[in-house]
Amino acid sequence: MTIAKTAEIAGAGLAGLITAVALAKRGWKVRVHDRYPSLRVEGFGISLFENSLRTLEAVGVYEQAVREANWMRFSEYRIEGVASEKRAINRPAFRVSRRLLTGALADEAVRSGVEIVYDSTIVGADPAGALIDKDGRRFEAELIVGADGLNSAVRKTLDIATHRSDFEEGAMRFIVRREPEDMSDADAGTAVEWWSGNRRVIFSPCSLTEHYLALTCLADDVTGRQVPIDVASWSKAFPEIAYVFERARDEVDWSRIMWSNFAAVKPAQWSRGRVALVGDAAHAMPPNLGQGGGTALMNGLSLAVSVSARGPIDALLRDWERRERPLTNHTQRFSVIYLRIARLPAKLQAAIFWLFTNFGPVRNQLFRTANHWPVGAVDRVEAKPLPIPVIARQAAGLD
Ligand SMILES: Cc1cc2nc3c(=O)[nH]c(=O)nc-3n(C[C@H](O)[C@H](O)[C@H](O)COP(=O)(O)OP(=O)(O)OC[C@H]3O[C@@H](n4cnc5c(N)ncnc54)[C@H](O)[C@@H]3O)c2cc1C
Repeated sequence: MTIAKTAEIAGAGLAGLITAVALAKRGWKVRVHDRYPSLRVEGFGISLFENSLRTLEAVGVYEQAVREANWMRFSEYRIEGVASEKRAINRPAFRVSRRLLTGALADEAVRSGVEIVYDSTIVGADPAGALIDKDGRRFEAELIVGADGLNSAVRKTLDIATHRSDFEEGAMRFIVRREPEDMSDADAGTAVEWWSGNRRVIFSPCSLTEHYLALTCLADDVTGRQVPIDVASWSKAFPEIAYVFERARDEVDWSRIMWSNFAAVKPAQWSRGRVALVGDAAHAMPPNLGQGGGTALMNGLSLAVSVSARGPIDALLRDWERRERPLTNHTQRFSVIYLRIARLPAKLQAAIFWLFTNFGPVRNQLFRTANHWPVGAVDRVEAKPLPIPVIARQAAGLD
C-alpha cells in the first residue's frame, strides 16, 4: 500500500526539479534522485520565453533565476553575405546561465522540503508505484516521475512503444568569459542567430561574467564537430566573432564538451500506472525553438497541478497528458521542420527567416509555445508584467 501524496522522482534536471518544487508546494513529500554526485552545474546558457518565465514565477524562483539574465529585446538572423534586420521582441525573453537557473530551482526545492539524493542511479520503475535503483532498492510512492532525460532508464522499463529520431544536425555548447568590452549593451540585447552555410552559432551573454555559445553543424561536417573546436575553420565561417572562438580554445575545459546530434522522442503515452514521464524523457526535441526546457518546465508544473486533484493517479496522469500533449506535439513538429533550413542555400534561408520575422501566421506558429500561458501559472487576467531585473534594466538604459 502506497503512502498518499508521496513522490519519487528520477532526475534533478529542469523537469525533475520543477516537478519536485511544484509538488512540495502542494503538500507532497518528495524525493529526487540524481546519478551525479552533485547538482549538475552545466556550462551552458538557455533562452527562456514568457511561458518558461511564468512557470518559474509560479513556483517562486523567477527573480532568483533571472537576476543576472541577458534581456533579449531584439532578434536577428545574420546570414553570411545577406543583409539582415533586427526585430523587436515584444514579450519578456531572457538568456540565462543554467548554473543560476538550476541552482535557483534546487535551492527552492530544498527550502520547500524536497530531499535530493545524489549518486543515486535509477535503473527503472514499477507502474505499481516504485523507482528502482542500481542496487535493486525500491523507493515506493503514490507518484513516480521519470525526469531522467533523453535516454531515460525509467521510460525504457515501462514497455511503452517509443519513436526516437536522431537527426543529422547537432551542437556543442560551452561558456566563455565575458568581458565588458566584448559588445555594447545594445548588441548584447539582440538575440542573434548567426548562419554560414550549414553552420550556425548562438553567441550571447547569459550572466554578468559568462557568454554562452552553441555551435551547430551537420554530422558530416567533420571539422565543424571537432572537439576542441577548430578555431581557424569556425573563424573563417564567422569572422566577426572570431575572437570568442580563440578565447574558447584557451579557456574551455574540452574534456567536458561533446558534440551531440539532436534527437526527438515520442512515446506512445506519457504515463503507465503511477509512473509519469516528463521533460526530455517524454518529449525531447531539437533545440531550434528554445522550448525543450520550456515544455519540460510547463509540463512539470502542470503535472503537479493535475495529480493534486482528487482521483486515481493513473486517470489524473492521462488527463494531464490529454491537456498538455497537443502543444508539446506542435512544438516538437516545428522544431523538426526548422532542421531542414541548414541544407538550403543562403538566399532561401534568408527568405524563410523573413517569413519567420514578418509573416504573422508563420510567426504565430513558431511562437505559439513561447506565448502559451502555462497551467498552474498566476491567472492571466490578474497577472502583473514580469519585473525586469535591475541589471537588465540598467543594460537597456531604463534606470
Ligand atoms: C544545443 C541545445 C540548446 C538548447 N537550448 C535550449 C533553450 O534555449 N531553451 C530551452 O528551453 N531548451 C533548450 N534546450 C533543451 C533543454 O536543454 C532540455 O530540453 C532540458 O534540459 C530537458 O530537461 P530535463 O530535466 O528533461 O532533462 P535533463 O536536463 O537531461 O536532466 C535529466 C537529469 O536526470 C539525471 N539522470 C539521467 N539518468 C539518470 C538515472 N538513470 N538515474 C538518476 N538520474 C539520472 C541527469 O543527471 C540529469 O540531471 C537545448 C538543448 C540543446 C541540446
